[in-house]
Amino acid sequence: MFQLEKIVRNNILNLKPYSSARDEYTGKNAIFLDANENPFGELNRYPDPHQTALKEKLSSIKSVGAENIFIGNGSDEVIDIAYRTFCEPGKDKALTFSPTYGMYDVSAAINNIELIKIPLTKDFQIDSKLLNKYIDDENLKLIFICSPNNPSGNILNNIEEVLKRFKGIVFVDEAYIDFSEADSYLSKLTSYSNLIISQTFSKARGLAAARVGTAFASKEIISLYNKVKPPYNVSKLNQEAALQSLEDQQQFEHNKNNILLQRSFLQKELGKITLVKKIYPTDANFMLVEVEDADKIYAALVNQKVITRNRNAVVKNCIRITVGSEEENLQLIKSLKEIQ
Ligand SMILES: *Cc1c(COP(=O)(O)O)cnc(C)c1O
Repeated sequence: MFQLEKIVRNNILNLKPYSSARDEYTGKNAIFLDANENPFGELNRYPDPHQTALKEKLSSIKSVGAENIFIGNGSDEVIDIAYRTFCEPGKDKALTFSPTYGMYDVSAAINNIELIKIPLTKDFQIDSKLLNKYIDDENLKLIFICSPNNPSGNILNNIEEVLKRFKGIVFVDEAYIDFSEADSYLSKLTSYSNLIISQTFSKARGLAAARVGTAFASKEIISLYNKVKPPYNVSKLNQEAALQSLEDQQQFEHNKNNILLQRSFLQKELGKITLVKKIYPTDANFMLVEVEDADKIYAALVNQKVITRNRNAVVKNCIRITVGSEEENLQLIKSLKEIQ
């Protein structure tokens, strides 16, 4: 049985959150002399601390309650708050798989939380036997599962087994889910009270500069998130940019489909290049590519002003290539042909 009170840090459970001036009076059309704002200017007023308009729009698009949504300053804040809410520094542990997204590691280190990293199988799937060795550790509070996984690009299977088996929080990072044919775990929210799903506006929505990330979870978990976040964590400009993107679903679909077409094109063209040894299947807007000598090829591409992500230190002789625009992808292929 999952019991949230057993997983949350005591200081967070007992925390009385900051109550902002805008929490105490929520009406409009008043004379606001409560928040020490400047009466002049365009961005002089504090933004909505609850991002109400954005949550309502997301709620209708994603078919989840607005009370099940948290908006963060990028998913990196969503990850960080998970550590700060559930893991006691110097005592509790989190777990993830390797290779995966680097911020789980950095955020754990900043918060002085031990992060256990267990290797994925050869085809980048969860090794249940290995996981079972750690899953009953009573200090283990959080498991991060990135699906589609960065940098391998594939969907991870058997997440539901982990949700059933683990007594702590399962954090499913769906930063790339829009590029995948697989279903989001959002439909499982009502079945699992230990599930947090994070998504972001940074990838398929093309708003990396705006820094908007979301968490979807039970309303109890979302309340904890709201207690821990800084009161005005998402700026007005960023709330508006995110809302605008949600209001133009057509543009979103158009750009996404273009990226998916370019992804197929890149896979086909890369397949013809002899220094490419293997292209891993992908559910994301990038692909992991094994080459003859990753360090050398990465450097040669940099020389041609084409920047890829050298993952040699993580997966031997692999580079991760983001799907760009048609022109960018053509340039990449041209450069690779010149190198070989
Ligand atoms: C890019 C990425 C994110 C996005 O983080 P933001 O802070 O929202 O930009 C989150 N998780 C993974 C796995 C990513 O690759």
